[in-house]
Amino acid sequence: MEITENKEYIITIDSVSSDGSGVGHINGLTVFIPLAVTGDTVQVIITKLKKHYAYGRIIKIIKPSSWRTAEKCPHSEKCGGCQLSHINYDCQLKIKKEIIENSMRRIGGFDKFRLDGITGMDTPYHYRNKTIFKIGNKDENNNICGFYERKSHNIVPIEDCIIGSKLNRTINKAVIDYMNNCNVSAYNEKTHKGTIRHIFTRVSFSTNEFMVVISANAYTLPNKDYLIANLKNISNKITGVILNVNTKKNTPLLGKKNIVLWGKGTITDTICGIQFYISPESFFQINPIQTEKLYNKAIEYANITHDMTVMDIYCGIGTISLCAAKYAKKVIGIEIVEKAISDAKKNAELNNIKNTEFYADSAENIVPELLEQNIKPDIVILDPPRKGSDETTLSAIIKAQPKRIVYISCNSATLARDSRYIADSGYTISKAHGFDLFPHTIHAETIILFEK
Ligand code: SAH
Repeated sequence: MEITENKEYIITIDSVSSDGSGVGHINGLTVFIPLAVTGDTVQVIITKLKKHYAYGRIIKIIKPSSWRTAEKCPHSEKCGGCQLSHINYDCQLKIKKEIIENSMRRIGGFDKFRLDGITGMDTPYHYRNKTIFKIGNKDENNNICGFYERKSHNIVPIEDCIIGSKLNRTINKAVIDYMNNCNVSAYNEKTHKGTIRHIFTRVSFSTNEFMVVISANAYTLPNKDYLIANLKNISNKITGVILNVNTKKNTPLLGKKNIVLWGKGTITDTICGIQFYISPESFFQINPIQTEKLYNKAIEYANITHDMTVMDIYCGIGTISLCAAKYAKKVIGIEIVEKAISDAKKNAELNNIKNTEFYADSAENIVPELLEQNIKPDIVILDPPRKGSDETTLSAIIKAQPKRIVYISCNSATLARDSRYIADSGYTISKAHGFDLFPHTIHAETIILFEK
């Protein structure tokens, strides 16, 4: 049977790919179908045909898989935020475990690799401590807030989100009400005109403090007292309202300047008993409940004693370094973003931790340099970004011969590549576990312990 674009076919789905699409086959050709899941029989239209694979879109679900859930997010079909919310949570975990294990086997060549489990959430909803809603409008008098549609910059109107804070709905309503009543326009990406760009909220799970940041193409907000009164009315958990000045075209989500309109400019949260100051731009793990479980596992795998030096590479604001400090003689944190390192130093001071040292530089520059200066880490913890580590950093670590290497990864493909390098240099994988930090999305974290 010849396969043609824009033609319809019936397919049975046999797995889920690492981008969350269902995978099926027509005459041996692999077809990726968003929102389909293992066990579905679906009628699809082929939307794009390549030499060795194709993409399809569901026209009709002929026989739904038992993996589907009745409690899916009402926006799951359009919103680009989550890829798995149509799948029941236990099956989401099964899919993530399989993706990690497959990468380690296929890319890393660890034929017998298995995670000893994957830790999910008891309640996999409203887990995010940070949410960023986009503001736009359908027409001049119809301001909306929501998220980008899958693979587009159209905004899907969404007041509430199953993974964000429950307070968001009323906050979003209050901001839209302010815009409508005080004639404040929505920012338009194409024309670079208009004022309000995003509603950005951060909440502390330990203190309940809630920060509302309005990102705007402006240095002041008209009738700001109306907005503040609207927000203060919602809950006494709201401890600060901040204007983030974001006047540049095509910028990241936040501009550099924050103006506190009311209340406090930071919130404080606690992970593993350590306090962290969080400002609008601070990097902070977005799922504190699961992060604590992940860090505890890192500490368990590292098995640090008081005579040991620990190196925490890709340390962000020093969260793992500060959690590890009480078990170690010394912890050295390394991170490329200078602001993150200044936050790490501030957080060490806030917690009265005196045995940490932080360096703002790229791992590939500073790790070989430090290791040549007679610093001998007993334990190395690595938590790199999605692209993984690199040979310069890894070979310097291997040369230093630490007792244990604990590798935390958010991308199983680069983890598998780097694991092969570490294993070929004389270390063995002794333990491995998965953590779901991002329920309903395709992302998962893996932690691996390498020992000599
Ligand atoms: N361990 C931290 C952050 C992990 S995210 C935590 O748990 O919160 C990965 C971090 O690596 C980011 O903070 C990123 O800024 C940093 N990073 C990216 N490339 C880097 C490089 N080449 N050298 C050092 N740090 C880098």
